Amino acid sequence: MSVRPTVQAARAYHFTPRPARIKLDQNESPYDLPPELKAEVWAKLERASWNRYSELAADSLRAAIARFYDWDEAGVVVSGGSNVLIQAFVAACGLEQRVLSVRPTFAVYGEQAQLLGAPLTEVPLGRGFRLPLPELLNELKNGPGVLFLANPAAPTGNVFSRDELTALADAAAPGWTFVLDEAYHQFADTDLLPLVRANPHMASLRTFSKAFGLGGVRLGYALTSPELAQNLQKLLLPFSVSALQIATGLTVLEHPDYVALRAAEAKHERDYLFAELQKLSGVSVYPSQTNFLLFRVENAEAFFNALLSEGILVRRQDHLPGLEGCLRVSVGTPEENHTFLEAAKRTNKAVMVRG
Ligand code: PMP
Repeated sequence: MSVRPTVQAARAYHFTPRPARIKLDQNESPYDLPPELKAEVWAKLERASWNRYSELAADSLRAAIARFYDWDEAGVVVSGGSNVLIQAFVAACGLEQRVLSVRPTFAVYGEQAQLLGAPLTEVPLGRGFRLPLPELLNELKNGPGVLFLANPAAPTGNVFSRDELTALADAAAPGWTFVLDEAYHQFADTDLLPLVRANPHMASLRTFSKAFGLGGVRLGYALTSPELAQNLQKLLLPFSVSALQIATGLTVLEHPDYVALRAAEAKHERDYLFAELQKLSGVSVYPSQTNFLLFRVENAEAFFNALLSEGILVRRQDHLPGLEGCLRVSVGTPEENHTFLEAAKRTNKAVMVRG
């Protein structure tokens, strides 16, 4: 066997699938794609020749995404999930260059750095999950490399200010690539595309897995400068986005009201969940601009198991630095959210009585 030591030493991405009546653990949309839209996808697939390779670089979908955001088509890259693009950004910067991010954050940035053997620096978030701006600016003096920042942030759910992000963009130029991971942007009131447009070394990384409700189809994309896009594209395998992925992406973009409606409901439900969780004395819930909420309890393991015993699956986050006692719940349908809240209230009361 010949496997690089960095690969042998790395831990595999950890996820334990568990059957549950109410699944609120992966920040997915609680709604499957409606039958009318699935029918449109089937019709596109019916017309396609399955014996032929799909498009070299998902070109028709790249064009549709460019129209959707009024972006230069040459600056759009599509992949089978935005995770794949994270890997490509790390591979683009190479072994000698640094990967910089914050801690805690989305695990894949650090994992890909370790796998590919790039030096990794993760600066701890400040109090209230604030951006450690002076420390990051300091780190950016020693480039080149790639800076990953999820905004809205994951798993903390907060947003960083435009001024802070602008300061980072300025400091990152020209040696660094600055990837703004906007997986949850539809649930926030932020629009950072003007910042990305003004900075050719920046990319906005986006996904169809969350607000578009297509986690199972695996589709992500980057909006960036033509120069960066051209280089990223080289790192993706030819013909790697399938006819199914392309047809599904094209279909949802033809129905912009669909995603807008789903995002609006999720925001409304998130704010309701936040307000209700805030009323529980043993629970601290953090403000969120995403489709999930992070909350802290006295005993995360007991709370998690009590919810699971009622068929409700949330995600433990208490293993992460600074997130001791934390759980994360994705926003579900109004009915699921209600059931979760009732169970959370019961669990909290039981813990309080015991405590
Ligand atoms: N970035 C963030 C911040 C995420 O939370 C996720 C999914 N959990 C991704 C990227 C990856 O999304 P996908 O590969 O499904 O497009």
